[in-house]
Amino acid sequence: MKGANKKIIIVGAGPVGCYLGQLLKQQGFDPLLLEEHAEIGRPVQCAGIVGRGIFEETRFPISQKSIQNTIDGSHVHFNGSSFVLNRGRVAYIIDRAVFDQELSKGLRVEFNTHVQQVSQIKSGFILKTNNGEYYADLVIGADGPNSRVRKSLEFSSDMKLYRGYQYRIKLEPRHQNMVEVHYVKPFSLFTWVIPEGNGTVRIGTISPNPYQELNGFIEKIGYKGEVLEKNAGAIPIGTCQLVKGQAALVGDAACQIKPITSGGIYYGIKSAELLAEAIKENDLGLYDRRWKEEFEQEIRICLLTRNVLENMDDNVLKKVFTYVKDNATLIEKIGDFENHSSILWSLVFNPRTYPTIGSLLMGMAKNPKFILRSLLRSPR
Ligand SMILES: Cc1cc2nc3c(=O)[nH]c(=O)nc-3n(C[C@H](O)[C@H](O)[C@H](O)COP(=O)(O)OP(=O)(O)OC[C@H]3O[C@@H](n4cnc5c(N)ncnc54)[C@H](O)[C@@H]3O)c2cc1C
Repeated sequence: MKGANKKIIIVGAGPVGCYLGQLLKQQGFDPLLLEEHAEIGRPVQCAGIVGRGIFEETRFPISQKSIQNTIDGSHVHFNGSSFVLNRGRVAYIIDRAVFDQELSKGLRVEFNTHVQQVSQIKSGFILKTNNGEYYADLVIGADGPNSRVRKSLEFSSDMKLYRGYQYRIKLEPRHQNMVEVHYVKPFSLFTWVIPEGNGTVRIGTISPNPYQELNGFIEKIGYKGEVLEKNAGAIPIGTCQLVKGQAALVGDAACQIKPITSGGIYYGIKSAELLAEAIKENDLGLYDRRWKEEFEQEIRICLLTRNVLENMDDNVLKKVFTYVKDNATLIEKIGDFENHSSILWSLVFNPRTYPTIGSLLMGMAKNPKFILRSLLRSPR
């Protein structure tokens, strides 16, 4: 391992910063994490649904102590119509605070330390915090959607922040092991109902006004129960520069979020593995290159799909939903919880679906404004 004596500072002790910290420790480094909160994992800003792979395919074993429930599929709703996707044991519901706390065990973390500014000096970086200044040879921004490292060091990005709001409610769910997703506008305005287990559900919305939308949804559907907890947070959707000299971003700080579901834990964890490998090789450029090989195409296809759907007329959206509903068994068969472009490709290349795609394209072509808006907002 090269450069073992390097002073490495990771800003942010969320799941991705902690996982990276564990990998670096495994490799013989001694990273320091700076965390603005007084404890790990709180406040929770997450619905806590993760694919099974997160506990099976990682380089550092992630404790299963946080698992609260198992998910066997979803009920998908749009405009009064719905369908079911059955996929046995496809995901887990986790207690995010416990998940993060387990990941942080044994790491060197300075709490109540808010990084205000990162400045590059000749040989490294000075991090200005409310607790004084820190020096680092290598600085990693794992500090979430509003990353101070990203802003201070002027990493370029092309992203939009979406907002999420969620209640944990004491309530028996309609489905014990199935998630409900209610789309108003795929994938930028939707509500989820997640059975946490033990007679508790998580109901949350992503939308420009998630608080109002969520309360409206709960009232409409008639859910009544004691609110145990309220969670709110931001979701960065887009693309971002990953490496600048001896600084790098990872996780939400780097927009490593699935554009279709807004899940970020898996991508963040997998990206941290690539970053740890690059640090071991003393070549941060390797992180940038490997990340592009592994994720860039997937993210760009999903961003494009998201942009197209966000700009679509409701009538065409209804057709798209019917089309997806008619092909639900295909999605059940080939759907991958972490990789969504495989579903898009298999739908596009299925000859049975050509007539539907043809009429969709005709419908879109009649609306030049839509094409213009989609192209202008497409990721570069
Ligand atoms: C409402 C909502 C629901 C979600 N649901 C899911 C889901 O079901 N599944 C899923 O996979 N993903 C979900 N996500 C996304 C997921 O929460 C994130 O992708 C994940 O938390 C990213 O981890 P991270 O470590 O990169 O960032 P974060 O979890 O944001 O951690 C960043 C850490 O940095 C600290 N920090 C920030 N700024 C500073 C600073 N200046 N100085 C010091 N410390 C700082 C923060 O306190 C925090 O501890 C959801 C997000 C939201 C908002």
